[in-house]
Amino acid sequence: MPSVTIPARTGDYVALKSGQRLKLINPHGTQVIDFWAFVFPSANSTTGGDSTTPTSFIRSSSSTEATGNTTSQHSSTPFPFTSGVQYFAASRTRSILSKLIPGTKDVLYTNKSVPLFTLLEDTTSGVHDTLFGCCDRFRMHNLGHPDFEHASCAENMHLALRRAAAQGVFKPGSISDEWTPDPLNVFMNVPITTGLDRDSGGGKIECIPPKSKAGEYIVLRAEIDCVAVMSACPNDLIVGVNAGKCLSVEYEVLDT
Ligand SMILES: [Zn+2]
Repeated sequence: MPSVTIPARTGDYVALKSGQRLKLINPHGTQVIDFWAFVFPSANSTTGGDSTTPTSFIRSSSSTEATGNTTSQHSSTPFPFTSGVQYFAASRTRSILSKLIPGTKDVLYTNKSVPLFTLLEDTTSGVHDTLFGCCDRFRMHNLGHPDFEHASCAENMHLALRRAAAQGVFKPGSISDEWTPDPLNVFMNVPITTGLDRDSGGGKIECIPPKSKAGEYIVLRAEIDCVAVMSACPNDLIVGVNAGKCLSVEYEVLDT
């Protein structure tokens, strides 16, 4: 498919089949893409949603301990998502990779440790981020915006998911719009600037302008059918995020 432009401050989604490759392009060099992916149970028969993979984090041998309490009563509540939905998990990926930033040939994992993507190519110097939570209307207010009406990556993600649901990609209502998982912040530059111990600063992090250059990109191969969501980050309140100017980005699904 030809490359698709995501206008500045907006988001988009794309449904991927296992084996398809997604190219995320930074045409201006300084724009961060917040990236998520979701796996819906009806979309896969080999991983994640099949009958042999449990959906709950509670072992069946332990479920009797929950008898009568709210755990069993709320087991079908669609919050933050319905049973069986998985999502890209930045924290799980960090712990499995034992590092902060995925590199070429590294795998990105779901919250149930299922391989989700493999990073096939990265023409940048490899600086991306998995530490910063994505911007949302509450954070924008926290940063000094006078109301809750600033555009955000979280809103872009949820609007993209709504469009996907409306177009039949997954069952509407599968994901609560009160929940936003942590993204992979592609092209974002968040160095740890101090040592970890208390006297050194407790591992301070700083958000500074991206190191990527115009035209640089990464290529991710889907290891499972999923819905990828991308946001051209609208954060202009922390100047470092997008080097002070919110711009468009592009993506492309490459033929397998
Ligand atoms: Zn953002």
